[in-house]
Amino acid sequence: MAFGLVTSTSGLCILTFSTAGFSVLWHAKEWNDFARRWIGSKAQRTSITAPFNEAGFGSAGESQGHSTLFTNGSNPDRGMKCCLACDHCFESETWECPRCGRRPTLRNGVLCFIENPPAACNGFKPGYFAKLATFEEDNFWFRARNRLIQWALGNYFADAESFFEIGCGTGFVLRGVCENLPRIRLSGSEIFSDGLVFARARLPKADLYQMDARQIPFEHEFDVIGAFDVLEHIDEDDLVLRQMFRATRPGGGILVTVPQHRFLWSATDEHSMHLRRYSRDELRTKVEQAGFRIQRITSFVSLLLPFMICSRMKRTRRDFQLWREFEISRPLNAVLERILAAERAMIEKGISLPAGGSLLLIAKRPVTDL
Ligand SMILES: [Zn+2]
Repeated sequence: MAFGLVTSTSGLCILTFSTAGFSVLWHAKEWNDFARRWIGSKAQRTSITAPFNEAGFGSAGESQGHSTLFTNGSNPDRGMKCCLACDHCFESETWECPRCGRRPTLRNGVLCFIENPPAACNGFKPGYFAKLATFEEDNFWFRARNRLIQWALGNYFADAESFFEIGCGTGFVLRGVCENLPRIRLSGSEIFSDGLVFARARLPKADLYQMDARQIPFEHEFDVIGAFDVLEHIDEDDLVLRQMFRATRPGGGILVTVPQHRFLWSATDEHSMHLRRYSRDELRTKVEQAGFRIQRITSFVSLLLPFMICSRMKRTRRDFQLWREFEISRPLNAVLERILAAERAMIEKGISLPAGGSLLLIAKRPVTDL
């Protein structure tokens, strides 16, 4: 007698064979349904979110595959949309709140969550984002920061399927992620519509939101959330971090960059609308108080710190021009980019640099909240 395993449209069977023929030893009727469900859920988790439809409804928040519920009734494995009017979180294809009926408006291909959205910050001159978009393409600092972010995302969150950048500006960082990690579903938010015009052009397929980082309309939605040189612009940075925590999927995490060292405070910070430069301890404490666990914290722009100190000390408020720091010759720009590439190689090898113009922090949200 012999045994055989057969699958058919009717199910999975274990058969016994003998000279008299065969008989069914075990028959799992549900096998095909089970296989279809399992494969289907995998396929849905890896699918790319469709852009907003004409009605203004995004499809973000449709991740599948969940089991247990938190004590407050929310599901840790399933992302949810959150109504900013009544704070009700819900699973839905649309953005209309099932409790109060509120829904965001669609403006120029971007979902807007703000009542009276600003075009640009009062402190920035007209054309700021247009000039920024041009500088970012070639400037050593923006290019080096992009590579560091891409490395951190790929290295610390290798399985990430979704990435949300808060304060995405012109979309320069998101476009870099799109080119280097194309499997990741991308979303971005910005409070100023002037920046989102450039972001939409750079990222036609990403979900973009006009949103205040202090009110993030998601819960457990994203594998990774990034805020790159954003927190220093916001008075309630601790609130932003708590909102990022809520929007991060348990087991996911955040990437954050901020300007470092208070002694580097200069007219550049004032004209950049910064409210603070961080110390390492201050950033660490605020991130931990939001609920995250630090994975890594390192300085960067460390090898250029002496030049940065000289540059900022010799400039007075009277002769200040915001873009002067970026207006350098092409050869010098290339040299500085190579220096920062060498520095990144050190960081990738595990060296955490003690001082530098900026800080990079990588933290994770625990799988279960304490
Ligand atoms: Zn509501």
